[in-house]
Amino acid sequence: MDAQSQLIAEAERQLGPRAVITDPKEIEPWATDWRGRVHGTAAAMLAPVSTEEVATIVTLAARHRVPLVPQGGNTGMVAGATPPADGSAVLLSLRRMNRIRSISAVNRTAIAEAGVVLATLHEAAHDMGMRFPLTLGSRGSCTIGGLTSTNAGGTQVLRFGTMRSLVAGVEAVLPDGSVHSGLSGLKKDNRGYSLDQLLIGAEGTLGVITAAALRLVPAIASRAVAWAGVESPSRALELLRFLEARTNAAEGFELVPADSLQLVLEHIPATRAPLAAEHAWNVLIEATASDPAANISAELEQLLAAALQQGLIADAVIAANESQAEAFWKLRDTISEAERAEGPTLAHDISVAVADMPRFITDAAAEVERKFPGVIASAFGHLGDGNVHFHVRAGSHAAPDWYETEGEKITQLVDDLVTAAGGSISAEHGIGQLKLSEFERLAPPGRIHALRAIKHALDPLNIMNPGKLVPFE
Ligand SMILES: Cc1cc2nc3c(=O)[nH]c(=O)nc-3n(C[C@H](O)[C@H](O)[C@H](O)COP(=O)(O)OP(=O)(O)OC[C@H]3O[C@@H](n4cnc5c(N)ncnc54)[C@H](O)[C@@H]3O)c2cc1C
Repeated sequence: MDAQSQLIAEAERQLGPRAVITDPKEIEPWATDWRGRVHGTAAAMLAPVSTEEVATIVTLAARHRVPLVPQGGNTGMVAGATPPADGSAVLLSLRRMNRIRSISAVNRTAIAEAGVVLATLHEAAHDMGMRFPLTLGSRGSCTIGGLTSTNAGGTQVLRFGTMRSLVAGVEAVLPDGSVHSGLSGLKKDNRGYSLDQLLIGAEGTLGVITAAALRLVPAIASRAVAWAGVESPSRALELLRFLEARTNAAEGFELVPADSLQLVLEHIPATRAPLAAEHAWNVLIEATASDPAANISAELEQLLAAALQQGLIADAVIAANESQAEAFWKLRDTISEAERAEGPTLAHDISVAVADMPRFITDAAAEVERKFPGVIASAFGHLGDGNVHFHVRAGSHAAPDWYETEGEKITQLVDDLVTAAGGSISAEHGIGQLKLSEFERLAPPGRIHALRAIKHALDPLNIMNPGKLVPFE
């Protein structure tokens, strides 16, 4: 019997048949990434229900030197949870570990197991008059373990930060099978290196997160959502700073260019432009208040009127009710879908310093379109975080192999431009396997050296998600 078969047999003996799935039909949907671009294979998917069971599995994996690929909702964008195609690894699904162990409005924390789906946590916090203030399009499927392991962001980062700011501590099984317990959620703890922070964003390469202590904030009593037309990204950034100087209620600020809005209006049913005239750029603004006495709509309206007077915006409208607010968000959230309906699109999730972003957007788009005539480059998203989705559409040049031929060259150019601007080729989505070669090509040697040194120190047998995030293991 080979090492992997021994691991599977021993796991079944120790944990019972429910924890070991070997039916290829059941495994198959989880062996391909969310976008259906990377296909892996695994002889088994292990599905523990407790931290002790995870520790048993990791101990067995270390003994037999069989790599594990931790997986939550499999919604990641860089194929980090996809097993290798050669079948050398076993999938480790955390989805059965789905208990919210505790939730406290007094502590303002929830302790949620790795497999808790984000939307479930949202509901539980809401029931307590609280809120977990991180949200994103995959909230119905993505899990706390996956969000923590990718240091996910989303649309509310402007005010509350990424998972790194919202995770107070983690419980994890380390590659030697020992358990790190960091769930006390201490606000102050200066006992040297933070293992918790090391595990956040580690993409499953340093251990298996089994639970996280998460920071909660008071629930929203009211929100106002506005749509404003602006002449340029730099005007949009001026508007953000103008608002921030006068209120701390702004928590969403999304940039939308005219051509993205146009694509949505063409391809997504039941959508319409919020403003009568077309503007070169638009911003979606969300402001919230937890105080029921606050009149957040009136406050935002006053601020936008002042911004109009100062010439920061050309026009603006505030959603009259919740369904209109949702309709504004739909215009932002369906840009990628509308682009896909239009034709092949390359997506780059990039960041540069906030102050540099307006110029980067304009210059990089011009450079890409100049070097690759016929393509259309546009950027939308989280301007206030210095993070945009820099997308390039094939336009009229969409040969069937466009992604592999011109597409790869375009991505290299975008990544070169981002690196030259001192930015990151992965703002939110991580490195996984899809960005590994570009990361290796462009990251400074010091960063790569430190990454490898940490990986080798904590996972000397290389059993935790090999081939992801860390180049040249
Ligand atoms: C429609 C849509 C919208 C999205 N919007 C955003 C967005 O706005 N911002 C953003 O940041 N991301 C966004 N994402 C991607 C986002 O990264 C994922 O949704 C989420 O963070 C991954 O959670 P998951 O449970 O699906 O993890 P998976 O995809 O299963 O895994 C992701 C990575 O984490 C590792 N991992 C998973 N669970 C564990 C664990 N318990 N312990 C150790 N490692 C683990 C995996 O090995 C893999 O490397 C979006 C995705 C979709 C589909």
